[in-house]
Amino acid sequence: MPEQTESASRRLLRRLRDTLAEPGAGQERLDRITTIIAEQMGTDVCSIYLFRDADTLELCATEGLKPESVHQTRLRVGEGLVGRVAKTARPINTGNAPQERGFRYMPETGEEIFSSFLGVPIQRLGERLGVVVVQSKHARQYSDDEVYALEVVAMVLAEMTELGAFVGEGEALAALHQRPVMIRGTVAQEGVAVGHAWLHEPRVVVTNPIADDPETELKRLKEAVDRLRVTVDEMLNSATTGDKDQLQVLEAYRMFANSRGWKRRMEEDIARGLSAEAAVEKEQSAARARMQTVPDPYLRERLHDLDDLSNRLLRILTGQGERTGAERPADPILIARNIGPGELLDYGRSLRGIVLEEGSVGSHAAIVARALAIPLVIQAGRVTTEALNGNLILLDGEQGIVHLRPEETVRAAFEDKIAMQAKAQKRYAAIRKEPAVTLCGQRITLTMNAGLMADLPSLESSGAEGVGLFRTELQFLVRSKVPRRSKLAALYARVIDAAKGRRVAFRTLDIGSDKVLSYMKPQEEPNPALGWRAIRVGLDRPGMMRMQLQALIRAANGRPLTVMFPLIAQLDEFRAAREHLLNELDREERLGRVLPEKVEIGAMVETPSMAFAPRQFYELADFISIGGNDLKQFFFAADRENERVRRRYDTLNVSFLTFLEQIVKRCEDTGTPLSFCGEDAGRPVEALCLTAIGFRALSMRPASIGPVKHMLRKSDLAEARAVIDAARASGAQSVRPAVMDWLRRRGE
Ligand code: PEP
Ligand code: MG
Repeated sequence: MPEQTESASRRLLRRLRDTLAEPGAGQERLDRITTIIAEQMGTDVCSIYLFRDADTLELCATEGLKPESVHQTRLRVGEGLVGRVAKTARPINTGNAPQERGFRYMPETGEEIFSSFLGVPIQRLGERLGVVVVQSKHARQYSDDEVYALEVVAMVLAEMTELGAFVGEGEALAALHQRPVMIRGTVAQEGVAVGHAWLHEPRVVVTNPIADDPETELKRLKEAVDRLRVTVDEMLNSATTGDKDQLQVLEAYRMFANSRGWKRRMEEDIARGLSAEAAVEKEQSAARARMQTVPDPYLRERLHDLDDLSNRLLRILTGQGERTGAERPADPILIARNIGPGELLDYGRSLRGIVLEEGSVGSHAAIVARALAIPLVIQAGRVTTEALNGNLILLDGEQGIVHLRPEETVRAAFEDKIAMQAKAQKRYAAIRKEPAVTLCGQRITLTMNAGLMADLPSLESSGAEGVGLFRTELQFLVRSKVPRRSKLAALYARVIDAAKGRRVAFRTLDIGSDKVLSYMKPQEEPNPALGWRAIRVGLDRPGMMRMQLQALIRAANGRPLTVMFPLIAQLDEFRAAREHLLNELDREERLGRVLPEKVEIGAMVETPSMAFAPRQFYELADFISIGGNDLKQFFFAADRENERVRRRYDTLNVSFLTFLEQIVKRCEDTGTPLSFCGEDAGRPVEALCLTAIGFRALSMRPASIGPVKHMLRKSDLAEARAVIDAARASGAQSVRPAVMDWLRRRGE
């Protein structure tokens, strides 16, 4: 870069900084800035367009265009050259603007006489803020140096916008992060919540985008990059060798941290007059802009890695760590791009809700959020850039909508909804100690699903009659290495203690598919849900299962023990699993330990094959629990993790209900106790239909026990059954419409 251009660029930035330091309203500052840029760059025009809402740009200041067009000229994103710059987040540089694709003639501005056009996006960390444009009468292409200089200016404008330097009257000059924003995501754990934003990784604020002394800044950058490299090397050294994903990310970190191109670009920005922080952020913004347009998921991941790395570098440079001094609100709603299960557990039940920019329904974080019954919305785009610590948030975990800084009317409507739910909660609390007995006198056992120590208090608060499903893999998922047998035995003993004599059905490790342990060698499988998982792993590599069974026997320590095996798909698998448990009981006895007072050995029916299993299966199992989540996905061949198909088939579909009913009949024939422990058991209408076709035990999330009990207590199962049968006879695809209609007529 020529020495002269460098100093010209620095001069421009210095003048900008001086202008910004002077007192004045936002509008005055913008006006002065356009004049300075036009003067310094030797152009006839400089204009600044800012977003007035998510889709519209407004001309907010200009030097050279007709002054009366300021705040009058508006463009939609993608419209005209300015709109295209905003849309693509890329500069447009042309010597013949009127001939350029998409040029829009705006008579009120008088811009038709300007041939050359250079527009550059004003953006900060992927958040689009506006466009800065220079134009000249003389037909010429701007040089790379000029494009670059305007990009540096745009960066400073972005920082200044963030710091509120241009706040004034009108929507376009409204302070950032103050407007209401609605973000649509995907529900990963239902529930509604009102609270205040708490950023898992607070935004780093750069207060000094312009620097006087490039030498000092270059030195600061070098030191920070060196420190970053050391940190990445340390992370690589302590990484678990078995975790391919983690290693891949860290290798990418190392590659970027050592990338000459990355460092060179930042050094050039500094030479132009930016501070080290602003130079890092400029690169980060560019990476984020690219991230939004790259379709290849692998490349997008790598850009994410670069983004993470830039964040680390910024934290080193600014000294702003996790602790920014901000006070955690009393009703925090956690905002993060993504979060690991361990970190989420650290926050625990203190959170009112969670909003993630990424995440998936089956992620470990989602599993933990479900266990903690904290409403979770995932794939909520832009939330980490939009939200500031302390912002009011309404989280609608039923619709998957996040209202950030909501309008008063939205807030009032939402509060009505919450009040109605609170009223319902009171109703449920009133029947907490009552049994679930239907109007026709049928007693139904309602138990809860659990898996973490954090679930145990719900045993009392929910009115559960025991734990119908204890997902033991959660304890393994939230750790970074296999828990020791003694530790597991102590954990299980605490669960049995907390149950105070109520039955707890421990399910042996259900890993594989969506539940991948970071310390296990990952399996490359084309269809993990149909792959090497659950009991298949347990039987093929029995070491871990045997250790777990020993821990369970020790935990029971003379008390009754209930164990069930997941994903049994044929009789011999159950026989073999059962044999393992019997062997461990023998072994423990030989070792002189106290055996459980009574042992129940059950099977989970999660594949359609077991509905047709030999009678011996039903006779051998002490009990059967239907894992409806898996059973339904296999019955309809519809992946439970795939948003496109997972809601496609109704649980109340006639085929599925009739199929479940056959299993009920087979259990009745052999006298095998049967329960249902998939998510559907916790939905009142589904629970009613399941009991109507013969289920007498349901296991669900603790929060569902109240609503389900309430529904059952005012229902007559024979009547419900008649409605279901009539719907089936009518050729309906699902019995839901008929059941809903009946409930409505009943006054609900
Ligand atoms: C199920 O499949 O219904 C079940 C209860 O097990 P999980 O959801 O843990 O697979
Ligand atoms: Mg399952």
